[in-house]
Amino acid sequence: MLYLAQLENRLRRATESPALFLCDNICRICMCKWYPARSTLDQASHSEIVERMKIRIHRGTRQIGGTCIEVAAESAPGRIVLDLGLPLDADTDALHTLMPNVPGLHDAGDDLLGVLISHPHQDHVGLVHDIHPTIPIGIGAAGQRILDRAAEWLDRPKLEGRPLIHWQSGQPVTLGPFTITPLLVDHSAYDAYALLIEADGQRLFYSGDFRGHGRKAKLFERLLANPPRDIDVLMMEGTVIGRDGEGESFPTEAKLECECVDAFNSAEGLRLVWTSTQNIDRIITLYRAAKRSGKRLVLDAFTAEMLAATENPNLPQPDWPNIGVYVPEWMRRKIARDKAFDKLEPFKPSRVYLEQLDPAADILLFRPGLLKELIAKAPLAGAQLVYSNWLGYLEDDANQPVRDWLSKNAIPTRYIHTSGHASVPDLRRFAAALAPKKLVPIHSFHGDRFDELFANVDRRDDGEWWPAGNRESTSWRS
Ligand SMILES: [Zn+2]
Ligand SMILES: [Zn+2]
Repeated sequence: MLYLAQLENRLRRATESPALFLCDNICRICMCKWYPARSTLDQASHSEIVERMKIRIHRGTRQIGGTCIEVAAESAPGRIVLDLGLPLDADTDALHTLMPNVPGLHDAGDDLLGVLISHPHQDHVGLVHDIHPTIPIGIGAAGQRILDRAAEWLDRPKLEGRPLIHWQSGQPVTLGPFTITPLLVDHSAYDAYALLIEADGQRLFYSGDFRGHGRKAKLFERLLANPPRDIDVLMMEGTVIGRDGEGESFPTEAKLECECVDAFNSAEGLRLVWTSTQNIDRIITLYRAAKRSGKRLVLDAFTAEMLAATENPNLPQPDWPNIGVYVPEWMRRKIARDKAFDKLEPFKPSRVYLEQLDPAADILLFRPGLLKELIAKAPLAGAQLVYSNWLGYLEDDANQPVRDWLSKNAIPTRYIHTSGHASVPDLRRFAAALAPKKLVPIHSFHGDRFDELFANVDRRDDGEWWPAGNRESTSWRS
């Protein structure tokens, strides 16, 4: 009876979820219908074959951004999703067309156990607000607070109130047949994790986005010195593969700090720095460089809010010396509209008005959306810009007004930046230390080049099911 009940249960799962597959063959050992249709498979090891974690990358085998991976266990009902991101070129007016075809995301199918987010960059988390509200979401607590604080200001839905699992580095979490161990990594996003997934006696390591030359480089070296063992599958990002200077090591944040000190000391007019508001490592670099130059770093209030959302007392806060905060027009309007005047309270100790900036003593964080306001109010004569982002972003159509303004006013621009992603030499060290049985490219436009750089590469396609184990399989597509 027990056997029949198990069989029925499996059949129900397979029928309900394309994550599990049915084939025309019936197994000659236990008569179940889950036996892959390959005559060459060893019948004696069938139990090993049927209880096998399977993986399907929905987006990411041939692109950076929009990452989404589905993992299905076989030993007990259950699937998890790793990251649910927006593609970099996403048409935000048609978000509903971008949701990957993962059963249960909209109706919380009972074997979908959770959506597990590696870090709070939009290309990994951008679609998570659209899933059914009962699906558990795994994410770092600070990452969630950063997203929610931004959502509050932008009138977008928050994650607060949903079932949340907060990552703690090195602390395993059990979800049905899965054991998930998050490991804090060095990345340009705050609170970023790699995820070790164990199920069906197999081990999958998803690198998320990471690097080895940022302010948390020690985490990278520690992982290399004591890597997780017996990794069946490593899904590793390869953002920088194919970019200029791919064989080189990247400058550290400490090196950037020195360059910024030089740039801040040598400029005559107001110094502007254009960087991402989410790049907390870089904000620290700018703060330290400003302090070393004897100057004040002036943040817009949105960036100050992101820093506050980390709840990390070691990061620059509005009441620190050498910090100024100005409240942009759009935030002032929102505060007035919501009658939420208490939101101005945290900025009071260091509130600055653009008209009052001192070109000789201030460094202003620049954001393209604030260009008009800066032109109208800030003392920009003789201003100089430090560009501290990926160069490709400068070419973005949305940044045309900034490019026009820079060229029309002949504003000297200096490029001081380092990647948020691992260099190829660091990727190679990482892959060698983990020594996976299979290395599957993800988060790269150049998965075809992994073979030249790493051992045991197994390139996969978006939408294809494949087993975590080493044995070659049929191609399971739903
Ligand atoms: Zn990414
Ligand atoms: Zn990222």
